[in-house]
Amino acid sequence: MKKSFVKTLAFGLVSTLILSACGAETSSTSEASSSSQTKETQASSEVVSSASVYEYTNPTELQETYDIVIVGAGGAGMAAALSAKDAGMNPVIFEKAPVAGGNTMKSSGGMNASETKFQEELGIEDSNELFFEDTLTGGKGTNNQELLHYLVDNSASAIDWLDSMGITLNNISYSGGASVKRIHRPADGSSVGTYLVDGLIRNITEQSIPLFVNSEVTKINETDGKVSGVEIIIEGETKTITSDAVVVTTGGYGSNHEMIESFRPDLKGYVSTTAASSTGDGIKMIEQLGGATVDMDQIQVHPTVVQDSGMLISETVRGEGAILVNQQGERFVNELETRDNVSAAETALPEQYAYLIFDNELAKRAKQVEYYESEGATIKADTIEELAQQIDIDPATLKATLDTWNNNVKEQKDPEFGRETAMDYDLTTGPFYAIKIAPGIHHTMGGVQINVDTQVLKEDGSVIPGLYAAGEVTGGIHGQNRIGGNAVADIMVFGRQAGVQAAKYANN
Ligand SMILES: Cc1cc2nc3c(=O)[nH]c(=O)nc-3n(C[C@H](O)[C@H](O)[C@H](O)COP(=O)(O)OP(=O)(O)OC[C@H]3O[C@@H](n4cnc5c(N)ncnc54)[C@H](O)[C@@H]3O)c2cc1C
Repeated sequence: MKKSFVKTLAFGLVSTLILSACGAETSSTSEASSSSQTKETQASSEVVSSASVYEYTNPTELQETYDIVIVGAGGAGMAAALSAKDAGMNPVIFEKAPVAGGNTMKSSGGMNASETKFQEELGIEDSNELFFEDTLTGGKGTNNQELLHYLVDNSASAIDWLDSMGITLNNISYSGGASVKRIHRPADGSSVGTYLVDGLIRNITEQSIPLFVNSEVTKINETDGKVSGVEIIIEGETKTITSDAVVVTTGGYGSNHEMIESFRPDLKGYVSTTAASSTGDGIKMIEQLGGATVDMDQIQVHPTVVQDSGMLISETVRGEGAILVNQQGERFVNELETRDNVSAAETALPEQYAYLIFDNELAKRAKQVEYYESEGATIKADTIEELAQQIDIDPATLKATLDTWNNNVKEQKDPEFGRETAMDYDLTTGPFYAIKIAPGIHHTMGGVQINVDTQVLKEDGSVIPGLYAAGEVTGGIHGQNRIGGNAVADIMVFGRQAGVQAAKYANN
């Protein structure tokens, strides 16, 4: 298929700054450790990636009919398109943003998978059962267990499938909530999102799968009780596209403040780390067809987000030993508690914000700090006392807090808050840093209900014929708390499955 370049630069893209997420294979990792992702968190900024240099399909090539319509070109959508194409179908992807990638582009920590060939090569002992148990514990026992079994049982084959397409995630590390090294990243330990999205688009292009950007799907059509295509707006015109099946992969609703507030009034006014296009469109369109939703109030809040930019400060900074202090210059929480608990402790402060405090040695270990500094997020001073003055904290109190903390590190005991991890390094080497943070919305765990075949379900458990969904648009898999690395696993495993199942349906 002939393609022509869609000028994405007209939408104000800025150049990508890709820093390594975590260097050493042995290092612990966490989500959003790449500065390239955090750059994109402002609602006003556009998605930034080398994905912008790909050629998208020219609108003049739009046809009226395809076998399968895929709504949204994030990880789940592109995985669905590739597996549908493998099954002999003629799929199309419609993407409302000027470039493909969605939130997937922002993901940096990696993709969880168990019993993989790469784990075996590195001598890491893992099992699908352990992966299941870790995820269920993380989700506070509320995960949809059928979906979860499918996720873990098919995670290794998703890694192999990606590898077969030249997307090799063979650098494995720890992530929060995992008992063993399970989070898979590109060989150099760099950000998973840009690597994954670039690899997927490369395959989409090689397979001549039409991918239209600036193409918003506004409605899913139904004829005689079966899904029959979609309405799209492309180049300012509304068009009806017919298809045998529709796969909805529109991502979450982390940037739709109205939806967030309606399900979680307590999150009113929270900044979001998610892509501006995460507006819950798919959920709304599916609800119009009678599709059921689940866990809509389960919204993951991340405790270290710069409020004016929405920039996520990676858990790596706390993982490397940073502490959190309140405006009085005192610690108030075990900084390595789960995201929900640390966020709650910040919200309970009268000022509802806190400062991450760390030293120059930590800044050297956590490469992301360079980026935070370049973006003006850090406050820096040669001594603790000078730092305290800059952030309007009593210098003697902050000094005493640091002294106590450094003694805790020495003794390997935190009598006040019981912190037991990330106590390998003290904070004694100037210059010293502060970053002002507060909680921000990070991931929406609720969404439409699906079964293991990714068919969309109604309240009574019946399916909507021809309608499939995968990725962050769906709910139930993560329960009340998603563990880091499981969203990328989710989009790859279920995105792939959606393509297979939609193809089976369309073939009948
Ligand atoms: C900063 C950050 C870091 C993260 N790091 C990690 C990590 O390391 N590991 C991990 O597992 N998870 C991580 N996550 C979560 C993970 O990235 C997402 O949950 C996942 O990528 C969602 O993928 P998706 O394909 O479902 O949706 P998306 O990737 O968001 O794609 C959805 C696409 O649909 C498009 N769309 C929406 N509505 C329409 C419409 N009406 N018409 C056409 N197109 C539409 C959107 O523009 C978008 O491109 C992170 C999230 C954030 C915000």
